[in-house]
Formats: sequence, C-alpha cells, structure tokens
Amino acid sequence: MRQSADLERPSCRWQAKLLIVISLCGLSGCATTPYRFGAAQWYRTSPELEATTASQPIERGRPNKVLDTFGWVWGIPNKIILWDRRIDNHRIGPQTEAAVADYLAKNELSSVKVRLNQYHPGDDWRRLAANDSVGAGWRYTLGTLSVLGETILPGRLFGGDHFNPYTNTIHIYSDVPAVAVHEAGHSKDFAQREWKGTYAAVYLLPGAPLYHEAQATNDALGYLLTESDEQTQKDAYEILYPAYGTYVGGALGGFVGGNVPYAVAVLGGHAFGRMKSSQLANGTLSEAQQVQSGRGSDIKTTVSTEGVGGQTIEHVGVEFP
Ligand SMILES: [Zn+2]
Repeated sequence: MRQSADLERPSCRWQAKLLIVISLCGLSGCATTPYRFGAAQWYRTSPELEATTASQPIERGRPNKVLDTFGWVWGIPNKIILWDRRIDNHRIGPQTEAAVADYLAKNELSSVKVRLNQYHPGDDWRRLAANDSVGAGWRYTLGTLSVLGETILPGRLFGGDHFNPYTNTIHIYSDVPAVAVHEAGHSKDFAQREWKGTYAAVYLLPGAPLYHEAQATNDALGYLLTESDEQTQKDAYEILYPAYGTYVGGALGGFVGGNVPYAVAVLGGHAFGRMKSSQLANGTLSEAQQVQSGRGSDIKTTVSTEGVGGQTIEHVGVEFP
C-alpha cells in the first residue's frame, strides 16, 4: 500500500527529483533525427522464428460484435487518459496496418509478428518455444508468465497495445498508426540487444520502463517525422507524450505515493505533446527541421482487400525499389 508519509522521507524526495530529471532527459532529445533505419545485420534474431514469420508477418482477428463491443467499453478509461477515441477501439484500419508493415520492412525486422486485434495463444506459445534469441531461462519463467497472461486475460477483450519480447510479437488493439509504430519501436530496440531476456526483466524494476519507453517513443517519432504525413506526426506527439506521462506517473507514484503525481505527469504529457504538435504545424519544430530531405528508404507498402466467397482477404505488399 502506498503511504503519503513516504513523501517526507528525504531519500524519496531525492529519488522523485532524480526520476523527473531522468524522464525529462529521456524525452529531451524527443525524436531521434536524422532517423537511422535499422539493418538486418545489426540484429540478433532466431532463424527458426524468422522462417515461421516470413509467410504471414501480419495477422488479423475476425471481427466479432460482442467481443469487440466489450473491448471498446472496457477501453473507455484508456480512451479518456490518452484523450483519443481510437484507443482500444478493436477496429484496426488499413492506415495503421500499413504504418506498422512499412516500419518493419524499412527497418528490416523480418522475425517480428503483428497481431491486429487477434487472439491466437496457440501460435504465441509456439513462438515462445521457437524464439531462441531469448535465453531459455528467461523464456520458461517470465516468458511463460507473459504468454499465460495474454492467454487468460486476452487483449482482444481487455485491450492494451504491447510488444511481447519473448514471442517477438506486437499486439495491436488501437487504430492509431503512431501507437502501432511505437510498439514496433520496442521490437527494433529488443532486436539490437544481445541479452534480450535480461533487458525484458529489467523492465519490471521501478522506474526502468522510462528508459525502454523513451527508446521506443524516440525511435517512433524520428521515423514518423521522416516517413509519415503531418496528421500522423501530430498524433504521435499528442498521444505518445501523454502515454509516456503514464509511465512517468506510474514511476513517481511508486516512489511518492498517491494519484496526484500520475495525473500531473499525464496532463503534463498532454500539454507538452500539444506544444510540440503546434510547433510542427507552424514549422518551428527543431527536430522536423533536422529531417533530411533525402529519405533513407524508397520501400513502399500497400494494403488492399479482396472479397472471395463472402470472405475478405487482405493483401499487404512491400515494394522494393
Ligand atoms: Zn511502449
């Protein structure tokens, strides 16, 4: 239980100050520009996982009115916190799908699976067993717990976009391209780590998520400033900043207690994100000015749908120059 008396302890006050400094530093660079695209040779991945992912990197759950309505209602608090009705709406449109497909192709992340509002625990367990790029000791302990959590508390019902490093899988329930790219940013961060299981376990330590989340958000912002349209870039600032605020608030709350730090951090994220977004709109955002006009990649992603025998089949194509 949290106690407000904790605030009086000098060490706690010191920790809280340090945390604010760390979290501000985490985002002070904001977008990493000019953006550095990832390359397959940087990554340590599982060849077995890569082989099984290649045939169908992105899968989609079949729409279900009852499940998806429950999920939409359950996600109302998250919609309010991030102030966007597309959060946990369980209806992923082609723009979000193309954004994540594009990001993964351009960063050469070929062993990452994407599930769009899909519950497929059987395949998640198979991927956990196959993913030998994460040490077996971590996979069969924390990895097993994480997949067990996804199996008994399905995101299909309870939402929560996330990346699972043990199965190397992105789970998306919100129709926001910037959020999908942020989750893909986690996959790029993990792909470069040698000790993936340890890096994942560190996330459980108080305050540690601030580092992981800043890595994913900075990469997503850098990528989107380089590759996406202005509306997606504005979304990125207006949603990813308050989302980061939830982690700052969670960490502060853990040290000083109470709900006030959480509210302050989230509202601060909204204010800061909207400031960045308006700088982007009026051309004064310094990160945007650093984006080189020469794009790093000419790979294009296309999404098309086709009706066959009463079923809709989706094609995601990647065109290389
Ligand atoms: Zn994240």
